[in-house]
Amino acid sequence: MSPKFTQFTTFTRPVSELTYMQIALLGLGLMGRALAARLLERGHALTLWNRTPLDDAYLTGELACTRVVAEAVEAVSAAPLVLCMLSDANALREVLLSKRMVHLLPGRVVLNMATIAPEEARSLAEALARAGGEYVECPVLGSTPEARSGRLLLMFGGNRARFDALLPLLSDLGTAPRHVGEVGQAAAMKLALNQLIASLTSAFALSLGLVQREGVAVEDFMAVLRESALYAPTFDKKLDRLLARDFERPNFPLKHLLKDTRLFTRAANAAGLDTHMLVGVQHVLEHALHDGLADKDYSALYQAIVPPRD
Ligand code: NAP
Repeated sequence: MSPKFTQFTTFTRPVSELTYMQIALLGLGLMGRALAARLLERGHALTLWNRTPLDDAYLTGELACTRVVAEAVEAVSAAPLVLCMLSDANALREVLLSKRMVHLLPGRVVLNMATIAPEEARSLAEALARAGGEYVECPVLGSTPEARSGRLLLMFGGNRARFDALLPLLSDLGTAPRHVGEVGQAAAMKLALNQLIASLTSAFALSLGLVQREGVAVEDFMAVLRESALYAPTFDKKLDRLLARDFERPNFPLKHLLKDTRLFTRAANAAGLDTHMLVGVQHVLEHALHDGLADKDYSALYQAIVPPRD
């Protein structure tokens, strides 16, 4: 049960005056549900909305002490701050720029925490500003366990005063929220980090695959790797999954890593960078997606790189 609120509270004061946050949270997928659980635990007053009605298990479980509404406009009309954890920029545009929604935007702050491209973020910020609202971004590194325990790495893009006003909220989600710069710059930093998730995991899967095919003991390979400058903690984090080919119970699904890899490639090409290396990784992810692994853990890219032998 939320310590400060047991029921829905209406929008009465602007974001800058809030010591706690009245929040409309749009998008209750893997990350949205984890954020909602954490924010409720920290005493924030939430009104929740998801396009597809949630399972009863959530409504009677960890989200039981908050208000879940059937329409996005109903959630937004209840709060000065709109936190979005939707899958991509198309979803954001569809929800935020609908005819009924734009009338509600004046005076409201939209905080997008999903991963989208810098250009998409800037264009959303312009559209919201034209409607009288304000768009800021705070993409996150970390997944559902980090969201549930307030250990996300938070990258904020938007004006400094807004960052300061939102700091109490952001500090409930991560230990050191960072003001990166203007809208689009935090989005760029997030894509840069996710490019590393895709590239490091693919590179590790490929090396592990050759070691296994040559009959080298995986423990010997890992022992040398761990002692070297080439080691990254994510290798051990994913090793058991790769060896067991267990890609169930995803925190971060493969389809979203493919989305981010495509977004990075597009942004990097526009910036004049050579992305041939990443295009190879993108093909691997597409291959895995076509094999039906879209909703599995992203480490399922191993299946495409190291196909199982009959
Ligand atoms: P998810 O489980 O796939 O949830 C996506 C959410 O977006 C769902 O609530 C879905 O609603 C909603 N949605 C999709 N299209 C929509 C549309 N056109 N209109 C309205 N709602 C729509 O994804 P997630 O893992 O929570 O990730 C959300 C975002 O955070 C993504 O950008 C992802 O890249 C990023 N992210 C994820 C992680 C992670 O570890 N999972 C970590 C960092 C960042 P329905 O239920 O109706 O489909």
